[in-house]
Formats: sequence, structure tokens, C-alpha cells
Amino acid sequence: MSTDYRPMWKELGLDLEAHDALLGVLGPLYEQTFTRQPQRPEGMKYFDFVMSEVHGLRIKELVDARSSGRKVVGSFCTFVPEELVLALDGILVGLCAGAEFATPEAEKYLPRNTCALIKGAFGFALARVCPYLAASDVVVGENTCDGKKKGYEIFKDLVPNLYVMDLPQTKSAEGRALMRAEFKRFGTYLEGLTGKKLTADALKKGIAAVNAKRSVMHRLGKLRAADPSPISGLDGLLMNQIYFYDDPARFTGSVAKLCDELELRIKRNEGVAPKGTPRILISGCPMAVPNWKLPAIVEKAGAIIVGEESCVGARGTQALTADTGKTVDELLDAVVDRYLKIDCAIFTPNASRVEHVLAMAKELGAQGVIHYGLQFCSPYQIEAGPVEKRLEKEGVPALRIDTDYGQEDIGQIQTRVEAFVERLRG
Ligand code: SF4
Ligand code: SF4
Repeated sequence: MSTDYRPMWKELGLDLEAHDALLGVLGPLYEQTFTRQPQRPEGMKYFDFVMSEVHGLRIKELVDARSSGRKVVGSFCTFVPEELVLALDGILVGLCAGAEFATPEAEKYLPRNTCALIKGAFGFALARVCPYLAASDVVVGENTCDGKKKGYEIFKDLVPNLYVMDLPQTKSAEGRALMRAEFKRFGTYLEGLTGKKLTADALKKGIAAVNAKRSVMHRLGKLRAADPSPISGLDGLLMNQIYFYDDPARFTGSVAKLCDELELRIKRNEGVAPKGTPRILISGCPMAVPNWKLPAIVEKAGAIIVGEESCVGARGTQALTADTGKTVDELLDAVVDRYLKIDCAIFTPNASRVEHVLAMAKELGAQGVIHYGLQFCSPYQIEAGPVEKRLEKEGVPALRIDTDYGQEDIGQIQTRVEAFVERLRG
């Protein structure tokens, strides 16, 4: 960052000293994890730039947008419908919580056996180091897992502007009706916040922008099926993470440009690792910025990650929203139908998720799946058993890794991943 953003951060109410400490760790971690990868596509330079300015230029854009009357909506979950936010001229940003920060402070509010994602969200808020949280006019919480649901009861006192959305636990008709009612309530809330009216035209535009963003991620996902892989798993994950922060149209254009480059690479048989490198699909809990621990270990162990069945990945971007409706109600129905397809483990039963994992492994030519569970995340850790069993039954080797954001278990994970990669080679 060449510009001095400190006055802006101060204005947003960040704790400058703690924020410096965070950036002091993030910068070198990014350098070490991403920029030294061999044969990176040229198009990744844009995403490097975005990351270098993730607390700078992008926040300035949000601050400027707010000055011009637009509203910023912060979200922790892929169930929050960006189509509605865009339709009301708002900006949706992800609130990452992908690192440990101020954990002892967070543990004054939460039991120690709370997942790292929730603790991270509390830690970032308590330490006042997240400019996205500070720049949000509203923070949307969602009643998904128990940890989040109960956590928001406390979180509401830590931020001035929490809005909680109820979400179904089943994909039944009643579950759909609940989601429909809650999306409608959210739309009405956003109308009040922005002072704008939700119209069919505006909703169509919102749907088109998000569909374009998701479509380009589908294109990228398909290109990762090539062997040799034209892009590393770390860079694939990075784009799925930046998906939540960047301006939608600019992001879509930049991924499309990168895809053009990857197509040329594939034609020339060029890749980031030799043909025949063991290919792995990651499945499980979301990996928010800067959670790059497991992918870095996997790729260092000589494998390549070819896809992520994750909210920060194909689970979050799967399925487009039908745009044929003529009225707000018809379009809202289409939005609900699309979001109800998300195979999050908070649903019971959630049988479609394992089918999605199997289909992805097949399409991407993955020889094995690593199931990533965050410690104390009951939905995914419990679902991991049946998912693993089914994969092995279908002849897809699977490895379960349960971890958190700490560094202490890196050696142990490395050993297990190396043994798994050897199994895949065999
Ligand atoms: S795992 Fe489920 S609850 Fe968590 S971010 Fe993803 S969709 Fe939301
Ligand atoms: S990782 Fe699991 S426990 Fe943590 S917020 Fe997501 S669903 Fe809840």
C-alpha cells in the first residue's frame, strides 16, 4: 500500500496499533504463501494487487460509496442474498474471520470449545481491526449452526448494527416458506436502510450481476479439470475468497481475463505442476481469508488442489438464479429456489452434499478428497463420517483433517497429508 490510509482507518474507529500488528503478519504470510509459487499465471497479478489493497483501496471505495449515499452490508455467510443487496444499490462484503485474533478476549464471551470462525469474528470485532466490519452500515448474522445462532445473541452488543436472518434447517416446503419470508423481510429492511424501492427491473439487474460472477467461477472451476492443472489450488481458493470483497463487475472481468489465459495454457499443455501430479478435492468448512493453512500444506506435499466443495468455493457459487420472472415476487421465488440448493451441513438431511462432492471429484479428475473440518464445528465434523464412508465406498480415497487456525498441529497434518498423497500415487 503506497497511500497512507491511517487517517481513514482512524476515522473508521480501528485500533491502529492492533491493526498494524495484524497487517504485519498478513503481508509476509501472503508473500510466503502466494507470490513464490512457480509458474503462476500473469492474471494473478490483479488478485495480488487486490490483496495488497484489501484494507486500503477497497475500503476507500466503500467509504466513498457511503459518502455518495450507498449502503454497505457485511455478511458472514453465503446464504445472504447478494442479488437483493445489489438491487437496492447496496454493496455486499464478506466479513472474513479466517484468523485468530484477540482469542483470550473472545473467550471471555464464548466457551473455548467454539469453532475458530466464530471466535475469529468476535476477536476481530473486539480488537477493532476489521475495516470491513467498521465500514458496514449493517452486519447480517444468520441463524445457521448453533454456534452462530447463540453467538449473535452476544455479538449484537459488540456491534451497533446487527440484523439477524432466520434460516431453515430443512429443505421441506415449510423450510422454503421460512426462507422466502425471511428474504422478503430482508428486502423490506434493505428498502428502509437505503431509502430505495425494490423493483423487478432492479432485482433482475442484481440477479444478472451475481449470475455473471457465479458463471465466471464455473468457467474457472471447469478449467481446473485440466491435467496439468493451469492454476494452483491456493490461487483457486484465493479467487473464491476475493469473490466476497471485490466489486462484482470488476471481479467478473478479471476472472474472465484470467480464464482466457488459462485456456491458452491448457492448449499449450502448460501447468503449475507436471501432468500426473496427484489431484485433490477439498470439502468441508469454509476457508476465509487468511486461512491458507491446509491448502499450503497439501500443495507443499506434492499434490495439487483442483477444487473446493466449500462455501468459499463451489458450494457458495453453485447454481444460477433464474431471471425469467416478471414481478418482484416471481424473481424473489427464483432467488429463494437458488439459495435453497446450497448444500450446507446445517440442513438435515443433507444428502445432496455428498453427491456434489462425488460429482466434483469425477469432473475434476480428483483422485482423493480431503475433508476439512474446523474443530468444534458439529455440523461438518459429524457429517464428515458419512461423507468419508460414502467416498471410500465409491472408490475415492478420503482423509479427514480437523483443525483450527493455530500453527501447533502443522507438523502432524503434514505427516498425514504426505501419507495420503503417497496413497494416491500408489
Ligand atoms: S457453512 Fe453454512 S452456515 Fe457456514 S458460511 Fe457456509 S453456508 Fe453459511
Ligand atoms: S464452521 Fe461450523 S460451527 Fe463454525 S460457523 Fe461454520 S457451521 Fe458454524
